[in-house]
Amino acid sequence: MRYQPVIGLEIHCELLTGSKVFCSCRNEFGGGANTRVCPRCSGMPGTLPLLNRNAVRLAAKAGFATNCTVNKYSAFDRKNYFYPDLPKAYQITQFESPICTDGYIDVIGGKRIRINRIHIEEDAGKLVHDDYEGISMADYNRCGVPLIEIVTEPDFRSAEEVQDFVQKIAQSLRYAGVCDGRMEQGSLRVDVNISIMPYGSEEFGTRAEIKNLNSVKSIGRAIEYEISRQSEILDKGGRVVQETRRYNENHDDTKAMRSKEEAHDYRYFPEPDIPPVLFSDDEIEQIRNEMPEMPAERYRRYTEEYGLSGEDARLMTAQKEFSDFYDSAAASAPEYRLISNLMLGEISHLINETGTDISNVKFTPEAVAKTAKMTASGTISKGSAKEIIDILFEEGGDPEKIAGERGFIMSNDASEMEAVIDKVLSDNAELVEQYRSGSEKLFGYIMGLVMRACGKGANPAIIKQKLSEKL
Ligand code: ADP
Ligand code: MG
Ligand code: ZN
Repeated sequence: MRYQPVIGLEIHCELLTGSKVFCSCRNEFGGGANTRVCPRCSGMPGTLPLLNRNAVRLAAKAGFATNCTVNKYSAFDRKNYFYPDLPKAYQITQFESPICTDGYIDVIGGKRIRINRIHIEEDAGKLVHDDYEGISMADYNRCGVPLIEIVTEPDFRSAEEVQDFVQKIAQSLRYAGVCDGRMEQGSLRVDVNISIMPYGSEEFGTRAEIKNLNSVKSIGRAIEYEISRQSEILDKGGRVVQETRRYNENHDDTKAMRSKEEAHDYRYFPEPDIPPVLFSDDEIEQIRNEMPEMPAERYRRYTEEYGLSGEDARLMTAQKEFSDFYDSAAASAPEYRLISNLMLGEISHLINETGTDISNVKFTPEAVAKTAKMTASGTISKGSAKEIIDILFEEGGDPEKIAGERGFIMSNDASEMEAVIDKVLSDNAELVEQYRSGSEKLFGYIMGLVMRACGKGANPAIIKQKLSEKL
């Protein structure tokens, strides 16, 4: 690559409030067109906005989740533009005084990406174009859905950094209960600003903005496409123009939507109908105290205190409910690694295979902890632990009872096992002969025969020792 890419993001996130940001309409996706609107969110003249307190709290939580300062003073402005998706012809947003400023998120390679600001705004409606009839229809259900916009500094230098950041932001916002982070459903939408400059240069190039990317994969491909498009222009001695572009998944390219010359003049001015948001120190502290443990802190705890590998800790923290389940299990038995192995192994396997969710399983975290505990104490074998998990998954129940009733308790009676071993060896004299004359890799096979003959209660460690003695 001849040029250094420079990238900054603007990310819109729908807040998980019960109602919309300035009225009491339900904040719920779907419904027939224009059935979830009222005079306020559809922008009728003469109506007044009333700010949703919970939207403000969730925006503050987004700030804490991203290491921002949550400001004691923030205020709303009107951003004027004329387009049929917004009947009142201005969007209420925060321009001069956003609720959160100066945060950061660390991405792969330990690099710190600075967050410039997070502000609250309302979403607009949706136009549905019918190319066949040649008409456009307006659906205002989405008007007034509360959003935050997260704006980063142009600190990214590769698509991988951007993709890691977006995944971490989505994960943190889900942990904090701010946004469900579902890119494919549009509840988290990413605009990518990208320019290129010769390596070693200090001066950023002119940027293009790619709007509304809805998957981590599209983000990567749109960035790669833009890097090669802009490189070709510079190579030919041309100049990149500042413009907004749209990424097309089917063609895997970006097309110009509007240039800087056509850019809107938003004529921002203070929103006269909403008083500024004022927080006391106590109120800010109270919201901070409601924050759950964030994924980065959990990762640290799992690797440093529970002794999990980095990869296991990453998998374990990916989904909050799964990680919560692990925490409950770990709290009832300190077999951290064994519990983690059961959860990332057999339990994940069963969940993925059946398409269920950890919050819907038939067993408790304590049951998993008990199973791990029985394995650690040598009461059952590791193989039996897996089988018990299968039974718990199907039927639920108490692992100790299952182990007792279904013959999983390991027998440590060596003489009983020796008798079985003797029988297997005499039934397979030929194999034993081959083993003794040098085919050492047959050991595992013979061990398997003995294990099967002994049944699931046998202790593999004792069998292994006795078998080697006899062979
Ligand atoms: P504007 O107010 O004109 O939209 P901002 O300063 O708010 O400009 O920047 C918008 C986004 O563009 C931010 O995410 C920022 O990081 C990014 N950005 C700014 N300059 C560049 C550049 N030269 N190359 C890539 N991204 C940039
Ligand atoms: Mg901007
Ligand atoms: Zn409404």
